[in-house]
Amino acid sequence: MAVSREDVLNALNRVVDPASGKRLVEGGMVEGLVLKNGHVNFAIEVPAERGAAAEPLRKEAEAAVAALSGVLSVTAVLTAHHQAAPGAAAAAREGAKPTPGGIPGVAAVIAVASGKGGVGKSTVAVNLALALARLGLKTGLLDADIYGPSVPRLLNIHDKPKSRDGKVLEPIEKFGIKTMSIGFLVSEDQPMVWRGPMVASAISQMLADVAWAPLDVLVVDMPPGTGDAQLTMAQRVPLKGAVIVSTPQDLALIDARKGLAMFRKTHVPILGIVENMSVFVCPHCGSESHIFGDGGARRVAEELGAAFLGEIPLVPAIRETSDAGVPIVAHAPHSAEAKAFLSLAENVAATLKAPMRPAPRIVME
Ligand code: ADP
Repeated sequence: MAVSREDVLNALNRVVDPASGKRLVEGGMVEGLVLKNGHVNFAIEVPAERGAAAEPLRKEAEAAVAALSGVLSVTAVLTAHHQAAPGAAAAAREGAKPTPGGIPGVAAVIAVASGKGGVGKSTVAVNLALALARLGLKTGLLDADIYGPSVPRLLNIHDKPKSRDGKVLEPIEKFGIKTMSIGFLVSEDQPMVWRGPMVASAISQMLADVAWAPLDVLVVDMPPGTGDAQLTMAQRVPLKGAVIVSTPQDLALIDARKGLAMFRKTHVPILGIVENMSVFVCPHCGSESHIFGDGGARRVAEELGAAFLGEIPLVPAIRETSDAGVPIVAHAPHSAEAKAFLSLAENVAATLKAPMRPAPRIVME
C-alpha cells in the first residue's frame, strides 16, 4: 500500500530531538517533505552550531520513515535554520575575505551569475566556455546550478562521469571543454531538496573531487538569485571574478544590482556585466528591434563602475541550438551570434590577464 504524507509525519513525530526534548514535527523541525512513488525526502532544521552533532538524529529520523511499509527510499538532510553554511552569513556581514586556496592546476575560476532566473545565464555560461576554448584556453564548465542543472541538456550529455581511482571523478569532455554537472549524477525526475549547507558541500565536491586540471579557466554556472546558498558559494569557491548576466529590462537590472552587491559583500571582483537578449534580430528580414529598451545594462554597468563586457542578441538560433544540445558557438562558430560570444570571451580573457579591479561600491535603492 502506498505510504501517505500523514504516515510519514506521524513516524517523524515519534522521534524526539534529544537537544530540545521536542518531537520533530511538533518542534517544527521537519521541512520540505517530498513524497513521490514511495521515495521520501525531507530536511531537518537544526541550529547551525549543532552541525554534525545532529547526525544521529538525522539517522534516527530516516530509520523511522524507512520502517514504514511502502517506503522505498528515504533521504533526510540536515539544514541550518535560516542560515547559510556555518559562519557564512556572519562572515558576509563582517565583509570577511573569501576562503583562500584554489584548485591545483586551475589558473582561474570565474562565476557566471544573475540576480534572477530566466535571463539566459546558463546559455551565456555554456557559450562563453565554448568561446574561451576557441580562443585557445583550456576551459572547464561547472554547472553549479543545482536547482536546475541545464548542462546535460545544453551539451546533450547523458553519460555518467567515471572515476579511475574511486575517489576523483573524471569530467566529461564535449566540444573541447571539460564539464561536470550534478545533473550527470542525479536523474532528472529525482526530487532534490537543497539547502544552504548541502549546496555548499555539493559544490565543494564538484570543485575539489573532479579531475579538472590542467585548466586555464573554469567557468561556473551559478544558481540564480542572491540567497544564502549563492552567498555561501560565492565565498566557498575561490573565484577570480564574476560575470553578471542581465537582460535590458529594468527589473532584471535591479536583480543584476543585487547580484553585484552579493559579490561585493564576498570580495569577489566583478569582471563585468553582459547584456543578454539585447536586441531582437528578425530571422526573416534581419531587422533589429530593441524590444526591452536600449543600452540599459551598459548604463547600469557605467553607473556601478563595472565593466560592460558585451551584448548578446535575442535570436531564435541561440535557443534552438541550445535545445538541440549543440550550442551556437559549437554549431556555427562563424555566425554573428557566435561572434558576439567570442567577443565576450575576448573581453573576459582580457580581464583575467589584467590586474583585478576592486568590486564597485553598490548603493541599494
Ligand atoms: P537562465 O540560466 O538564466 O535560467 P537560460 O540560459 O536557461 O536562462 O535561458 C532561458 C531561455 O532563454 C532558454 O530557452 C534559452 O534557450 C533562451 N535564451 C537565452 N538567451 C537567449 C538569446 N540570446 N536568444 C534567444 N534565446 C535565448
